[in-house]
Amino acid sequence: MLIVQKYGGTSVADVERMKNVAKRAVATRKKGDSVVVVVSAMAGETDRLIALAAEITDNPDSREMDMIMSSGERVSSALTALAIRDFGEKSLSFTGRQVGIETDASHTKARIKKITAERLKKALKAGYIPVVAGFQGIGPKDEVTTLGRGGSDTSAVAIAAAIGADRCEIYTDVDGVYTTDPNVVPGARKLDKISYDEMLEMASLGAKVLQTRSVEFAKKYNVPVLVRSSFNNNPGTLVTKEDKNMEKVSVAGIAYDKNQAKITVVNVPDKPGIAAELFRGLAKANINVDMIVQNISSDGKRADISFTIPKTDSQKTMKVTRKIAKKLDAEKVDLLDNISKVSIIGVGMRSHSGVASKMFDTFAAHGINIMMISTSEIKVSCVVDAMYTELAVRVLHDAFELETEAK
Ligand code: ASP
Ligand code: MG
Repeated sequence: MLIVQKYGGTSVADVERMKNVAKRAVATRKKGDSVVVVVSAMAGETDRLIALAAEITDNPDSREMDMIMSSGERVSSALTALAIRDFGEKSLSFTGRQVGIETDASHTKARIKKITAERLKKALKAGYIPVVAGFQGIGPKDEVTTLGRGGSDTSAVAIAAAIGADRCEIYTDVDGVYTTDPNVVPGARKLDKISYDEMLEMASLGAKVLQTRSVEFAKKYNVPVLVRSSFNNNPGTLVTKEDKNMEKVSVAGIAYDKNQAKITVVNVPDKPGIAAELFRGLAKANINVDMIVQNISSDGKRADISFTIPKTDSQKTMKVTRKIAKKLDAEKVDLLDNISKVSIIGVGMRSHSGVASKMFDTFAAHGINIMMISTSEIKVSCVVDAMYTELAVRVLHDAFELETEAK
């Protein structure tokens, strides 16, 4: 078998742990499999590098940020390669560029376009365990790019797709994907299996175990992804194609996201083109809008438009929105940033009815007010006061009986 093993920051946090990683990769190789290792930077390193830049300027150039941030993975990949050699196997470390990870030009959030992987294939053929620096690629003008925070997951899955690996193993500091954050619900249950679509929702709705883009790649190229701990030999969670059994449970997991803010444009004229102009302006400013709700006033002439964005973007978004609101003749723009989004996810929702109403009933029974609602085929999200986040997650976990083994 051909296996890609990706090790996150905590798994390569110090040289002892790197030796552990090396041991695991070597053991896999000794079993007769070919293995490519992809590593993150040592835990905390990317944050440290970002903080250094912040000491110099509030507004660092994104090209230079990519040069800085990509260095973390360069260090951990070469150290890991040394550790593998020390165990007697052949190993070579590679930067993203050296294995042909071609991205678009958008610094600090580049998207992978293509992976040539020539040197990788050559190294594998010659019996090496290649160790690739995650999180980075090379843009169209030969500039170093990075793939967004948590991007090593995407490097690993994309490489697995490019070389036709049988599986991509993601090693982290938890045993797999849980029904919800075990820090919030100690009785959260580890899932043996989860579908790509559910994982995609979980990841984009706040579960931090995999970068969303990596799940998109896995789904698109049908790469089975095994999420497991590098600190034990527990079996982990397989992220894979949907099967019949997954539809049997209505809710597979609960996610929450506290990085949320709500902006309301108050009292805008209710006529064609208003929403278009507002969201065109926000898109131009590269602001990622999530939920949108429009309330129409009783006389039908004016409306309020509310939308949610990542809290970290709220200042920038307020600035842009105020400018547009003025043009649109709105009364004012309000910001509410002590909110969070709590979501239930499950492919079983397609065939079970009453899932959303059970969520609302549960919130009502606990006095949790719902500010916004959005749904898709396999998820229901509610915006609630941030103060209620943990309570909301706990009572939903109970209501949907996620602690008990799925039947
Ligand atoms: N080192 C990068 C980060 O901290 C990428 C990663 O760990 O996946 O975001
Ligand atoms: Mg990560």
